Formats: sequence, structure tokens, C-alpha cells
Amino acid sequence: MKSIWPKNAFIYLLILVASIALFSSFVTPAEEAQEIDIAQVARLVRAGRVEYLEFSNDGSIELTVLENGQEVPYRSRKEPDVGLGETLINLGVTPEQIGEIGAIVPQRPSIWDNWGLILIQGIPLLLMFLFLMFMLRQAQSGNNQAMSFGKSKARMFAGDRPSVTFDDVAGAEEAKQELEEIVQFLKDPNRFTTLGARIPKGVLLVGHPGTGKTLMARAVAGEAGVPFFSISGSEFVEMFVGVGASRVRDLFDQAKRNSPCIVFVDEIDAVGRQRGAGLGGSHDEREQTLNQILVEMDGFDTDTNIIILAATNRPDILDPALLRPGRFDRRVVIDRPDRRGREAILKVHTRGKPLADDVDLEIMAKQTPGFTGADLENLVNEAAILAARANESAIGMEEMQEAVERVIAGPERRSRLISDSEKRVIAYHEAGHAVVQALLKHTDRVHKVTIIGRGQMGGYTMTLPEEDRTLQSKAKFEDELAGLLGGRASEQIVFGDITTGAGNDLKRATQIARSMVTEYAMTESMGQRTFGKKEELIFLGREISEQRDYGEEIATQIDREMRSIIDKAYDRALEILQKHRKELDRVAQTLIDEESIDAETFRSLLEEDAPQGEPQTAPAPA
Ligand code: ADP
Ligand code: MG
Ligand code: ZN
Repeated sequence: MKSIWPKNAFIYLLILVASIALFSSFVTPAEEAQEIDIAQVARLVRAGRVEYLEFSNDGSIELTVLENGQEVPYRSRKEPDVGLGETLINLGVTPEQIGEIGAIVPQRPSIWDNWGLILIQGIPLLLMFLFLMFMLRQAQSGNNQAMSFGKSKARMFAGDRPSVTFDDVAGAEEAKQELEEIVQFLKDPNRFTTLGARIPKGVLLVGHPGTGKTLMARAVAGEAGVPFFSISGSEFVEMFVGVGASRVRDLFDQAKRNSPCIVFVDEIDAVGRQRGAGLGGSHDEREQTLNQILVEMDGFDTDTNIIILAATNRPDILDPALLRPGRFDRRVVIDRPDRRGREAILKVHTRGKPLADDVDLEIMAKQTPGFTGADLENLVNEAAILAARANESAIGMEEMQEAVERVIAGPERRSRLISDSEKRVIAYHEAGHAVVQALLKHTDRVHKVTIIGRGQMGGYTMTLPEEDRTLQSKAKFEDELAGLLGGRASEQIVFGDITTGAGNDLKRATQIARSMVTEYAMTESMGQRTFGKKEELIFLGREISEQRDYGEEIATQIDREMRSIIDKAYDRALEILQKHRKELDRVAQTLIDEESIDAETFRSLLEEDAPQGEPQTAPAPA
């Protein structure tokens, strides 16, 4: 981008900035607050002399004290990892007194009361900023190596050696198992490389915010005892062009010098969105950063011994280039924890904290469906604060329960509690999918059913194909459709009402039905031909549009055929579930109690009252 200003504008700007800065320093009297220690703050609170008090999370406190009828500002600090309330109580302030200062949260003066001051103080800042931008652009277009910001920033990367291990990550057993191989490799790369084994370069950790992706990445490094380098995708979004890419380069240089090690790219979706997607111009910076990550990954030799972990909660929006073989071709899902997982996480976070005898973590886990690991950590912390406030020596069950409310209402909430009625609906929905799928011949084996899902809400039923298939039969499509619609069918049967929970199922069902009609000619009435021409953008590798090569009449016919396919599948699902209502209830009830069911338990639930020795087979479809 070329400069939009004439050359001398630069000089004028400089003079303007200097003069305004000078001017404003005369206008605003320096009102220096005196620094006092926290014990003095406590004394002033006890004496009732604190007019108002404001504190921020970094531990700094600003307060106004009444002295001889005058308001005098003071400043103080406290340990950042202990709550202010707790600290003050330790210094002899009563909870009532804390309540009092808590109530005097300062009313900030309206901006417009002080607009003159703000203008005078704000303008120089703004101009300075513009000026800096200007300089940077100049420097970059002029290829000025002296102002290489990327370089100097990147020097701050120092890999640390995390002390956390898999023991600190509770629940998430499947994810740990999948990552164990990476740990083994990092511990002793030679063992693998001498055998010529190809170890994945990149692993994508997928999960809802707060489910412990960052923690897990650090635990992998901790388990293997290797250095951990990390960057976050969101850091790059607002940077100047070229900086992101050079930071990536420097990061990898450092990592290579310290291998075997882990490079962790947090929030990779911030840089890894599909290129060319979205409106409003290109995001040069994002793309350059992404490209640089790809270049680095592709440039690894077999003996580089760096594993790149990346975290995202939106794998669906990632650029396909990132997911290609040799890049992030492994995916490890970190689900929100189920009941047992939550209990284990609560155990980790109450470790070393004094707990009253009445505390039952199993009950707490039961009461918190939908909570992530971060929520649970927060819960324990809130309970500790409440106990400290009440001057108790241990955290009691009462505090734990009150803390649940606080987490739900709190600003840092990452998830919401799933209510009992919601849980029932989700349980029957998932049980519906699972039971229909299990009872049809051409469907994959049910591997896991859970009601604590990956998305916003709702669970999922995971199936595993028994054999590799390259050909899909019509019968298989039909069974698959019935399985997809089993969720909604179950809701209809059990509650007589349906929910939005089936939205995604319906979308997939529609896609399958459309393919059956338009791509594979799997209907009798429409002949052996395809309908519609797909246009692909070769260089992006994506479909952008579908062109019709048929008229209105055919379009209506396609719709009619799709409709009949889907209706038939829905009827089959309804029929199966009505016939196997007992099994449906059993699976749903177990889901309500346990929240997730593995393959074996699922099988036993289906077979409980089945005739001995007779395998479950598909009922003849109508
Ligand atoms: P994410 O990166 O997925 O958003 P984090 O790793 O930042 O989540 O998790 C935030 C905090 O929540 C962690 O530091 C940890 O204290 C707690 N936490 C999350 N998941 C777990 C877990 N499975 N076991 C123990 N603590 C957890
Ligand atoms: Mg994180
Ligand atoms: Zn569903």
C-alpha cells in the first residue's frame, strides 16, 4: 500500500503532536496517588474511611480515602492469585465491611462530563499512533531492515518445560490414549526413526472452549519431558503485514534448535480460516501467517522431531490446505466431560484444598452436566472464596452448591448447565439414533453414545464402519437415513413433540436423499442419469456452485422423490422404535444417569431381554 499523504504532511503532523502533547501536560495537573500496602488498606477499611475502592484482576487497587474531610487518592497492590476479599478478611476486615466497600463500586463519570479533557489527552495519543503506523508502512515499503519488528518480538519465544502431566488432565481418557503415541515418539525419537516409522507432524486438538486443549498440549510436553513453544492464532490478526510470518519463522527456528519439542498453535482458526472465504477484502496478514505455517510444516525433514499441536473449536472453517496429509492430518477430539469425567476433574482441582466431610464430589458431578473443565475449576475456586468469606476452615457442600450458581451467572462462563428436562430430550434423541442404527443391517456398529456433546448442545452417536467400503449400496443409504431420523422419531414417540435438536440430522438426511436422486440415479422413476452440473474452482479445490441442467418439471420431480425417500426412512425409524420401546427406554435412562455409553454397555442394554443366543438382526423393513 502506498502512502496517501503528501511528504510534508509528515512534518506537520510531528509538530502538531509535539505541541499538543506539551500543551496537555500543562493543562492536566498530575494527581499522583500515593502507594500504600495492603495492610494499610485493611486498616482504612476497618476504620470506615474508604470512600470508594476499585480493584482489577491484575491485583492493582485504587481507593479514595477521607482525610480531614477531603478525598485523597491512594494506590495499592495485592497478590494476584488471592481474592481481595480473602486477603482483607485475613487482615481482620469483617465480611460486613467488605460488603460495604463492595457496594461502593465507583460510578464512572460520564465521558461527556469530561469531554474537553479527553479530547486534549486523546488526540495526541491518536496522532502518535497514526504517526507510528505511517513510519512502519514507510519502513516496510522501503525494505528497511532496521525496523524489523517481527524479529525483535520473536526473540521472546522461549520454550518452557511444562510440569503438568496426563494426571493433571482428568477424564479425556480417549484423547490421552490417542496422544500417548506422540509422547512415546518425543521421548525417544530415534527408536521410531530408525525403523522408518512416519510419525504425524501435526495433530489438531478439537474441542469446546475450556475443555482443556491448552492443558492437554502442555501435558503432552510434560509427559515427554520436552520443551513447549506456543503461539496463538489470535495474536496475528491485528499485526502489521509481514510480522506474523516472520514470527512463525522465528518460532520454528527456535523449536528446531530445541528438538525434540512441541510447537503449539492455539486458536488456529484465527489464522487458518479458508482462504478467499468471507467478505470484505483479503486478510493479507492472516494468509501470510498461514502460508508460513504450511511452509514450515512441509519443510520438516524426517529427523526434525517437532510435533505441532494446534487447537480449535471450529474445525469446520479451517482451510482444507491445513488438513492435508503431512500437515494436520490427525484429529483428537476433546469432549466436554461426562459425569465421571467431571468427578475426576473436581478431584484434581480439590487436591490439596481442605474439604469438609459433607462434600460429595459425585453429587457435584451429577449436578453439573454441561460444565467444562474450566467451569469446574472455577467452581472449586468460587467455593473456596465463599468458605473464606464465611471464615470457615474447610470448603463445605453448601459453598460448592452456591458456587455452581455463581459459575452459571459469572462472566467467565463457558457453558451452561443442561437442565433435567433438556437432558431427557437429548437422551431420548440420541438413544433413538443408536437403537435404530443398531437394529438395521446395513449400518455401522455403534461405538459410543453420549449426551454431552461437542457442539453447543446435544450429544452424538458415533459409529465405526466394520469394513472399508468404496461402494455404497442403496440399501445402506436407506438404513443410514433411518438412523439419522431416529433421533427425531424418538422425540416424536416419547414426547409427542419435536425439537430443533434434529436440525443437523435433517440437513444430512436431505443431502443424502439429494445425492441418491441426482447423482446416483437410485430411484425408479427418473431413469439412469444424473441431474445438475457441479462447478469446481480448481485452484481452491471447492465446489462453488451447482448448475441446473434440467427444467422446472424435473425439479419438482426431484423434490418429490427426495420427499418420498425421507418419508419412508422416517416411517421405518418410527416403526423400529415403537417395536423396541423397551430398549429405547433402557438406553435413554442409562444415558440420563451416565451421560455416555461405550460400545459394550450399549450392546448389553440392547440384549438384556433378548432370547438367549439369538443375535440381534434387522427387523424386515416395511
Ligand atoms: P481450552 O484451551 O480448551 O480452552 P484450557 O486448557 O485453557 O481449555 O482449560 C482451562 C483450565 O480449565 C485449565 O487450566 C484447567 O485448570 C481446567 N481444565 C480444563 N479441562 C480440564 C481437565 N480435563 N482436567 C483438569 N482441569 C481441566
Ligand atoms: Mg486454550
Ligand atoms: Zn441427532
